[in-house]
Amino acid sequence: MIIKGQKVKEKVRVKNPDGTRKTVIRTRTIPPQFLPPNVYKQYEKMMLAMEKSIGKRLYVDSGYRSSAYQLYLFVYFLKNHDFSVRETVKFVALPGYSEHGSPKYQAIDFINEDGIDGDPNVKEFKALPENTWLHAHAREYGFVLSYPKDRGTGTTYEPWHWRYDPEAIASADKRKKTAS
Ligand SMILES: [Zn+2]
Repeated sequence: MIIKGQKVKEKVRVKNPDGTRKTVIRTRTIPPQFLPPNVYKQYEKMMLAMEKSIGKRLYVDSGYRSSAYQLYLFVYFLKNHDFSVRETVKFVALPGYSEHGSPKYQAIDFINEDGIDGDPNVKEFKALPENTWLHAHAREYGFVLSYPKDRGTGTTYEPWHWRYDPEAIASADKRKKTAS
């Protein structure tokens, strides 16, 4: 399933005629994203529920990525970490190890309508009502947070990165039953 035409806002610094700078808000279209059909269906279901409940939805900033693209990303980020592979793997998975390349447990990086997404917006994303809603309800639709803060695995906390796990739905049902 290809998702096209998702529009979000972004802040851009532009130059005034007198040489000073100002921040303007523009609309940008996210490049087409791919999700396996069953994951797309669950994502849409979850977003309808979110819209109904808080009047907001999240968009897919990154869905399925091939190993070739993952390698490109890895090499791209290496230079930000003094070319240390050990440091870079804390931020970007190696090809073949990314949940973005694993259709069964497909990962989605979310972005909100104001353009708040991953790095460097960790705090901003965490504070979003959309994020609070995800923590309360995502499991019911089969989505779980991959890199919570206290995992202690050396990977970075990523509040925007959720992966599909069909077993999560069953465990959410169980929780509801025990709660009622
Ligand atoms: Zn991700």
